Amino acid sequence: MKPLYVQVNPADNTGIVVNPEGVPAGSEFASGLIAAEAIPQSHKTALRPIAAGEPVLRYGFVIGYAVRDIAPGQWVREDMLHMPAPPSLDELPLATAVPPAQPMLEGYTFAGFRNPDGTVGTRNILGITTTVQCVAPTVNHAVERIRAELLPRFPNVDDVVAITHSYGCGVAIDAPGAAIPIRTLREISRNPNIGGDPLIVSLGCEKLQPAKLFSNDLPILEPGNIIRLQDERGFAETVAAILRGAEKRLAVLNRRQREIVPASELTVGLQCGGSDAFSGITCNPAVGAAADLLVRAGATVMFSEVTEIRDAVHLLTPRAATREVALDLIREMRWYDEYLARGGADRSANTTPGNKRGGLSNIVEKALGSVAKAGSSPLNYVATHGERVKAKGLVFAATPASDFICGTQQLASMNLHVFTTGEGSPYGLSLVPVVKVSSRTALAEKWPDLIDFDAGPIATGEVTVADMGQRLFAYILEAASGRRTWAEHWKLGNALSPFNPGPVT
Ligand code: CA
Repeated sequence: MKPLYVQVNPADNTGIVVNPEGVPAGSEFASGLIAAEAIPQSHKTALRPIAAGEPVLRYGFVIGYAVRDIAPGQWVREDMLHMPAPPSLDELPLATAVPPAQPMLEGYTFAGFRNPDGTVGTRNILGITTTVQCVAPTVNHAVERIRAELLPRFPNVDDVVAITHSYGCGVAIDAPGAAIPIRTLREISRNPNIGGDPLIVSLGCEKLQPAKLFSNDLPILEPGNIIRLQDERGFAETVAAILRGAEKRLAVLNRRQREIVPASELTVGLQCGGSDAFSGITCNPAVGAAADLLVRAGATVMFSEVTEIRDAVHLLTPRAATREVALDLIREMRWYDEYLARGGADRSANTTPGNKRGGLSNIVEKALGSVAKAGSSPLNYVATHGERVKAKGLVFAATPASDFICGTQQLASMNLHVFTTGEGSPYGLSLVPVVKVSSRTALAEKWPDLIDFDAGPIATGEVTVADMGQRLFAYILEAASGRRTWAEHWKLGNALSPFNPGPVT
């Protein structure tokens, strides 16, 4: 392969090296640029002389200011950049450049499970929700037995999943921050893929009582739906009670059949994890193109991860459908700024050693690449942490960027998850199909039994972003209809991890 870099925007004074082995010193690129030193794959090279103090540009935006003079062909590393300040939240344009609505796409469908509450599942799962961590091992034990002893008799049911977590007691349950984990767990327990109808296992003495978890929602709290461990006689009896409750549910779930429903019934959660400098060129724009198609087909597409949006917020507030939506986005940014400040950190705490090894110099560069997942549709709605999203179109659902916490919170709404990765992660969730999209073909080849979809050919120019987005859109509809993802094949379900900004007692 000849020495190759990608320049995303004509204004950029940096390019990203594409060659899998990097380029050695002295390599000549097609533009005539000579590499002044060896530069690894996905790292930046200077395309022009950059004087000390001058802006370093990628995606047409400033990702930093040069600490010292940088010569053309030099490797532009993290320590050569001063990070710019985040955009001020007080001076953002509000709904000033709302993209015109694109023509709706008709006729796109998937085969899903209709639920009584109007939602549609992409899987048919028995969910057993828990109010507190104390009962988790007991429920896990019961779930193993349900899988072995009961599930084979109910072939239309895909799985049994214990909705276990670390919350529920030993916390200041009435503190303001407690609303977030409680709301998140309530909505996960009503996820479309479990028919909106959980079996509930409670300990008895915990702070998060079933009535508090479900806000006194009486149908869910009917006595037959709740097993209280402290009411049972010993472990064996308790497990038997959970199995009896599960068997009744399985009989109901087993009668459900997939039926053809419009693509508008999809609620797709987008996330990136283990990003590299290619993520913003290949997988995230491909996901953005697929997101635009999903929006045009009437679906809901959620992007998240506050700390990865914060430095690109000035690109999003003009796209908000209304001033109110823009102000809601600013509200979520401000809340998170204050949350980080209380912990003595700021958004720069986001980047990982892997991000930097993968060529991302700082959170500004990461955010500009991350926001490409949001495509080009108008921003229709902003949801707060753990909220069930009912709006259609493009939605910002506030979450931390932590993969497992973001995924957990998106489960409050989504019936399918798309996860982009550059460094690679075997991440999965038990309640929804997780479509993993790689930023580089080298990763897809190294992990052929973990990566579902390779967006790498965009970097070499073999496939356009638009074509890759179209392919991913088709793949998403197949996955929604039952095509197994690699995470499902290997049963990779990361632990649920509700975001608890409140005090622990
Ligand atoms: Ca993430």
